Amino acid sequence: MIASTRIKPDAVLVDASEVARNALVSDVDKSDVGEHLGHDVEGERVVSHYFACARPGYRGWRWSVTVTRASRQKAVTVDEIVLIPGDGAITAPAWVPYKERIQPGDLSPGDLLPVEDDDARLVPTYSFGDDPSVDPLGDSLDDEGRAQVRRVAEELFLGRVRTLSPEGRAQAAQRWYDGDGGPETTLAQSAPAQCFSCGFLLRLTGTFSDTFGVCANGNANDDGRVVTFNHGCGAHSEAQLSKKQQAVPPPDHVFDTLTPGDIETF
Ligand code: SF4
Repeated sequence: MIASTRIKPDAVLVDASEVARNALVSDVDKSDVGEHLGHDVEGERVVSHYFACARPGYRGWRWSVTVTRASRQKAVTVDEIVLIPGDGAITAPAWVPYKERIQPGDLSPGDLLPVEDDDARLVPTYSFGDDPSVDPLGDSLDDEGRAQVRRVAEELFLGRVRTLSPEGRAQAAQRWYDGDGGPETTLAQSAPAQCFSCGFLLRLTGTFSDTFGVCANGNANDDGRVVTFNHGCGAHSEAQLSKKQQAVPPPDHVFDTLTPGDIETF
């Protein structure tokens, strides 16, 4: 049963479940209305009565009939009748903006996906300066933070308006680490060795150089993709077949038809 005790319940309205039911069945099919589930005190002389919804496909939903009465009046009137979801009701998932729904691979040729001006993954290149002797952020960063700023500033030479912010780099690193090129995939878990020791690993420079590389093995699933050092696959440059896995040589012929005795001489 649903009940609220914050506001003193109005006895007349709490007892008005039959009034609420009659109003409901005058609005919807009688067979759609189930048992009385309780009431909620919404405010002073305002009470909502709940009834199970028996309509097929509406499991967990309930009818809500809100009743009220004027001060010093016994007559109960109906404010509204609505169908609302309860526990276990099947409802539409929360709406997600399209930008958050887009996944890698969703863009088609000709599609545009502009980046917002305040996208936290990017910072204006000019804001970090390119002179290592000047720290535009003063004492606000520790040594590692300054090193990151320098690495971003170096990219000024590329003439880009914006570069990846530390947050943008962190997000990319986490995404790649958790993705198909990371250490947790089934492929990596069953690999004979890790990318770190593979001759096909192209090393990166800069921030990610101690964690990520690019696979350059045209026979591997990850060819051309960023992989973590502790990723791996069966196409590792040093992978060897065990004796059991090696091809069995064909047995000798049981009857050799090419011995000299079988060649007719004239
Ligand atoms: S071939 Fe396999 S082990 Fe070697 S770099 Fe590529 S993914 Fe890593």
